Amino acid sequence: RAKAPSNFIRQIVDRDLAAGKNDGRVHTRFPPEPNGYLHVGHAKSICLNFGLAEDYGGKCNLRFDDTNPDKESVEYTESIQEDVHWLGFDWEDRLFFASDYFDQLYEYAEILIRDGKAYVDSLTAEQIREYRGTLSEPGRDSPYRDRPVEENLDLFRRMRAGEFAEGEHVLRAKIDMASPNINMRDPAIYRIKHKPHHRTDDKWCIYPMYDYTHCLSDAIEGVTHSLCTLEFEDHRALYDWFLEQLPVPSRPEQTEFARLNLDYTITSKRKLNELVTEGHVAGWDDPRMPTIIGMRRRGFTPAAIRDFCERIGMTKNDTRIDMAVLETCTREDLDRTAPRAMAVLNPLKVVIENYPEDESETLEAVNHPYDESQGRRQVPFGREIYIERDDFMEDPPKKFFRLGPGREVRLRYAYFITCTDVIKDDNGEVVELRCSYDPATRGGDAPDGRKVKGTIHWVSAEHAVPAEVRLYDRLFTVPKPEADKERDWKSFINPDACVVMDKALLEPALALAPAEKRYQFERLGYFCADRKDHAREHPVFNRIVTLRDSWAK
Ligand code: ATP
Ligand code: MG
Ligand code: MG
Repeated sequence: RAKAPSNFIRQIVDRDLAAGKNDGRVHTRFPPEPNGYLHVGHAKSICLNFGLAEDYGGKCNLRFDDTNPDKESVEYTESIQEDVHWLGFDWEDRLFFASDYFDQLYEYAEILIRDGKAYVDSLTAEQIREYRGTLSEPGRDSPYRDRPVEENLDLFRRMRAGEFAEGEHVLRAKIDMASPNINMRDPAIYRIKHKPHHRTDDKWCIYPMYDYTHCLSDAIEGVTHSLCTLEFEDHRALYDWFLEQLPVPSRPEQTEFARLNLDYTITSKRKLNELVTEGHVAGWDDPRMPTIIGMRRRGFTPAAIRDFCERIGMTKNDTRIDMAVLETCTREDLDRTAPRAMAVLNPLKVVIENYPEDESETLEAVNHPYDESQGRRQVPFGREIYIERDDFMEDPPKKFFRLGPGREVRLRYAYFITCTDVIKDDNGEVVELRCSYDPATRGGDAPDGRKVKGTIHWVSAEHAVPAEVRLYDRLFTVPKPEADKERDWKSFINPDACVVMDKALLEPALALAPAEKRYQFERLGYFCADRKDHAREHPVFNRIVTLRDSWAK
């Protein structure tokens, strides 16, 4: 992998290295909360953290930020690991869980209490909110703020021992109720939660808060550069405060970057969860979803996603990225790598009347137009073929270079054919074409030098394999479904984001494709054999992207 171009984060790393900080180490981490599946926004963070470590000869940890037993599960920790690997990154032996530090974090909390820097508050959650004040109004001290150290220690130990109900007490840092930064107004460090945890089971009934846990976990792991999204900018003072108060083994620094917002989709776990639970999509891995498993199932490649994350770069202010950027990266990758094949999505039968009855032949086709190493294949051809219904017009305009009555086109890798007759059913619907072919044009060129403007794809009727082809498109019809205050964002779901073509026909080689194999179906787009549903007896392909950007009108 080529080293990524510089950006403001790399400049910070360069500056730190030049200044001799951290003994020249670069150590990052990707810290997901295991409360859902990863999405394309997380991919940006993964590429940033693992990419930085790779380029600087450093290390990157995978750390689960598992401090809230309410929404977390082993299912999510497993899927997240699989997604990171699939994207092409590896944490080696550095898989960590914040919950592994619960003992240490508890010890640190007792230190804060003993130093008079934390206290047990017995106000209700609502009172605490009231006392906190607002941006324009300072907070007020809790009546429990000056509890003696011994009483705080006793209460905190009893909180741990399970003597109190949820919400009865919290442990708070004692910082400054008048701070202009609300995060510094005595934030909670521990809350009571009588819930078993997916790793520590019922060992704990108090759980540390995110802001307290995160900086300490970074310090325990020797992380040097703790990269997070912009909404944590106002939390940085708190991040530093904890590290300054406690005897931590290292001194990480937090730097914020803009989160990825992608047009025509959403990147919020909560909202994606809503789509799944309300049945708007078939699951987390629905190919319309911007989750990593959804994108994987659709057929997006790890290389294209990594390239995308690199191209969008790192900024300090929130921007929206056009979905077309991801699609372009995907087309570029697949153009280079995907073998070509022929499939007809909406078939129209063609009988070549002057082709000998009961005969067939095989024609040679190149698998890739400029990658010779992909070789060649044999494609069967016969008297009856299917072409795309859209490739015929009974009364075509001048610029229509495909088939029409009396017109001649080239069949890809095969012959020139001319339409001699159009057969219709009782409703006037075209059901079949009669054509003649020119045997001298085998392979696609006429010895007499005559030209045809159009080349169309086809499959042999006798050999074609029936298949289901799912045409996926963008999940929403508008770039920012969340921006409209009048309408529910879900009312912008694109009803045509999945169109199933269940009468599609494939050239026979495609039925043998292994799951997840990607192809360019000539003239149609890039397609991927579905991970779950594709089988030799019932081939299923997903459209990843069209060949051109049809949205940019
Ligand atoms: P969500 O809001 O979707 O729940 P999150 O930030 O709560 O996302 P985490 O599991 O905490 O999800 O995220 C793990 C890491 O991924 C964090 O460091 C977070 O900053 C980063 N991340 C999450 N969403 C994005 C995004 N859209 N763009 C860039 N980084 C992101
Ligand atoms: Mg988070
Ligand atoms: Mg979240």
